Amino acid sequence: MTTASDNLIFAPVGIAHLTSRNADLLRAAADGRSALRVTTAAQLNGVPHFGTTVTILTVFAFAAHAADALGLPPTVVFDALENAPAEHVRRNGEYYTRTVGDLIDAGRLDGATRTDGFRRLLNWARDRSGVPYEVRPYRVYQNLRPVRECLHHIAQNLDGFAPICAPTDGIVKVRPRCPACQLMEKAGRRLRITALPDAVQLDSVCPDHGPYTEHVPIDGGGWYDANTPVRSIQKGYLLAAERDIYDACSVSADGADWGGAWHSQVLAPGLATLAIPARDWPISVFTPLVVDRTGGKLSKSLYVAKGTYADLPELFLNLDVLLADHGEHILDTLWTEVTRWAVEPRRLHRSYTVDYFAALLTDHLAVRPAPRAA
Ligand SMILES: [Zn+2]
Repeated sequence: MTTASDNLIFAPVGIAHLTSRNADLLRAAADGRSALRVTTAAQLNGVPHFGTTVTILTVFAFAAHAADALGLPPTVVFDALENAPAEHVRRNGEYYTRTVGDLIDAGRLDGATRTDGFRRLLNWARDRSGVPYEVRPYRVYQNLRPVRECLHHIAQNLDGFAPICAPTDGIVKVRPRCPACQLMEKAGRRLRITALPDAVQLDSVCPDHGPYTEHVPIDGGGWYDANTPVRSIQKGYLLAAERDIYDACSVSADGADWGGAWHSQVLAPGLATLAIPARDWPISVFTPLVVDRTGGKLSKSLYVAKGTYADLPELFLNLDVLLADHGEHILDTLWTEVTRWAVEPRRLHRSYTVDYFAALLTDHLAVRPAPRAA
């Protein structure tokens, strides 16, 4: 049977001509190493939606392909970001947030509903690919020695990192939270970052409880929220260190929106400013974006808030609906697709529309998704 996948057209893309199979992207970095570690991340802000599901499946498929081609035992490391904002509070004209993790600890969010969907998907992908995985919560990640070292380097050179991490307002956002109520000041206007000899000191002000200080030692202890550019640079530093810690080829695998401008304007200058030799940089692999009909990244929050793509089936919203409507067979269909992306350069380095997926699902399941009710 000819499927939508067989009828694709592939316009020439530079990197696809440079590589024969996608494992070639890792070949030099993997030389002489004894393991393969592929790291990806997601905010724990609900059940994984369609784009996240596709990304995670692609990461496992890529890890399996690379492990086979390079002869290295693979591990997928899933950074579960429970520091995602879950509550927004406005006081005296300023915005403050609380994290998913803090609301779970306070009994205001159900932790299981935040993690069960991801666990189910990770377990399915592990069983299908044979690639084991580890979940690394943000509270563990932010406390790792290399991540703390990187934080200390950034704190010592705020003038060097501000144009990279905060080109608009110059405020590097490494946020402490109020010890009494866990509020964090989003814009960081009252934030002070100080590099001590063996620690970073963070000073801020709670609108309800006044000034407070968080002590963040390089050796561990304390807590801080690093915003996305800071966390991205820390992750590059960590993965460079993990080449030696695990004698591993370190790979960062994320959606393609972390390539292009983000990689060239944030991650690459960040790693260069940290003086990490290019040979130690983690390999960045970008998984295809799932885009809407106008070419924009499929967005669950915009879908919900604005009724955009109102004629698309509900299954593009989240994994629960996907599995409830089609069972785990739907994951088999997606797996067949992403295993081709994982191997073939011309399939990896492109985007796919939701209509393409709708056609795939129709092909494989002989089910035409019903229009979403208005
Ligand atoms: Zn407070």
